[in-house]
Amino acid sequence: MHEMSLALNIVELVLAKAQAAGGQRITSVELEAGKLSGVMVEALAFCFDAAARNTPAEGARLEVREIEGCGRCRGCGHSFASDSLLGQCPQCGGYAVETVQGRELKVVSLTIDE
Ligand SMILES: [Zn+2]
Repeated sequence: MHEMSLALNIVELVLAKAQAAGGQRITSVELEAGKLSGVMVEALAFCFDAAARNTPAEGARLEVREIEGCGRCRGCGHSFASDSLLGQCPQCGGYAVETVQGRELKVVSLTIDE
């Protein structure tokens, strides 16, 4: 369970951004979470609410956009949808697969009341 530390990081980040923008209150936060990031979206939303309490982000709506996993084979260069970090290339059967998408967790936008 590392959602609480992630949530604290997200709150810290959005508070810094809101302050830089001169905003008073954060009403929503949009996140991208890769399906291979290991993040439990519901747990993260719960932790976010707790982490945002008594801050200008309290009550902000957390919108999470899930990003599909994608791997690329180092052997043959084939790219394919993947739901595992330890994928096997469906084209050549190789295991030298790098994850090119799906591990990210990032804040993509904020809505700030001024
Ligand atoms: Zn391959």
